[in-house]
Amino acid sequence: MTADNVTAILDGLDSVRAWQEDFYRDLHAHPELSHQERRTAANVAARLREHECVVHEQVGGTGVVGVLRNGDGPTVLLRADMDALPVREETGLPYASKETAAEGDAAVPVMHACGHDVHVTCLLGAVALMAQARVHWSGTLVAVFQPAEETADGAKGMLDQGLASIVGQVDVAMAQHVLPMPSGYVGTRIGPTLSAADSMRVTVYGRGAHGSMPQAAVDPVVLAAMIIIRLQTVVSREVTPGEAAVLTVGSIAAGTKSNVIPDHAVLQLNVRTYDEQTRSAILDAIVRIVRAECQASRSPREPEFELFDRYPLTNNDAEVTHRVTSAFATFFRERANELARQSASEDFSDIPTALGVPYTYWGIGGIDPDLYRVAEEVGRVAQGIPVNHSASFAPVIQPTLDTGTRALAVAALGWL
Ligand SMILES: [Zn+2]
Ligand SMILES: [Zn+2]
Repeated sequence: MTADNVTAILDGLDSVRAWQEDFYRDLHAHPELSHQERRTAANVAARLREHECVVHEQVGGTGVVGVLRNGDGPTVLLRADMDALPVREETGLPYASKETAAEGDAAVPVMHACGHDVHVTCLLGAVALMAQARVHWSGTLVAVFQPAEETADGAKGMLDQGLASIVGQVDVAMAQHVLPMPSGYVGTRIGPTLSAADSMRVTVYGRGAHGSMPQAAVDPVVLAAMIIIRLQTVVSREVTPGEAAVLTVGSIAAGTKSNVIPDHAVLQLNVRTYDEQTRSAILDAIVRIVRAECQASRSPREPEFELFDRYPLTNNDAEVTHRVTSAFATFFRERANELARQSASEDFSDIPTALGVPYTYWGIGGIDPDLYRVAEEVGRVAQGIPVNHSASFAPVIQPTLDTGTRALAVAALGWL
């Protein structure tokens, strides 16, 4: 692949932009929750067919795969996630979501608060760029539109329903995320880039009694409180200084009334790590501490542990990342930077791990560059710039879409 070929392919962006911005506004206004991405999937499939892809639908529920074959050469897999979040949009944008959806028995507001609408639109744009400039590359481009990233099971669902046989032999896999960085910028990183995440539900048991008769009780509220305090020592006392890890007790539930000592308490924990050894050491420490505190409190029953919402570590391959980084440096120049390690998590790496192929995952900026510069100048980036999952997270359409579309094409062309 010569720089001239890449330039010739990227020159097609004007015609892509002509539909891409409308597609984005429509998708942003019509977000769908995890596993419910039916409208999105149908629109994606229709667009892929227009660009001469072989299209596979309902892969792992609402997943869509577009395969663009163009002669001999490597196969590059690009992935975008499609789902939105139960958040009431407060961006004030003219194309803001007013949608609601069923979540269990309740109707909840829905918003593309994580920017997956950007990912979908950019990947469709990259497929279009490649489809309309076939003479300038060869190989196979596989575009994977994945449901249910936010529930950590969308990638696994596609793999369980035959993604590997649909995509065949793959040489490299890549994905991107829009982040609260200035729009127009891209960031790459070698090694651990997004954290592994584990959620755990812990149930501890006591013995219920009248609130005035604690001698007759084993108080699970006090037991839970001791556990919470003791868990604060795991990262501070058991993890090597400098090794990043987070252990948060995000939820505690026990009892119904001030004068009743309940008979159990439920804690919900969240763990973030960047190293598999640290990950299992922390999970082991939680179990050890909970069991010991239960014993110290004379708990009448063994505690119960349930792991859920588990995300793999995103650990970018050095060789692949190096190749993408140098391609980005050529095309984005001073707008290509090193990405800081992110505390968020992703299930993308489940796909390359299952396929046995190296991967990289990079970030693109979504924030109005002027707004970002002003916030930076007054030292209020953390306070002034809405981040992913916020009701005010509002990526600017341009140059965000152009940048994300170019980034996918430029990175893929490193192999094609
Ligand atoms: Zn998210
Ligand atoms: Zn996301």
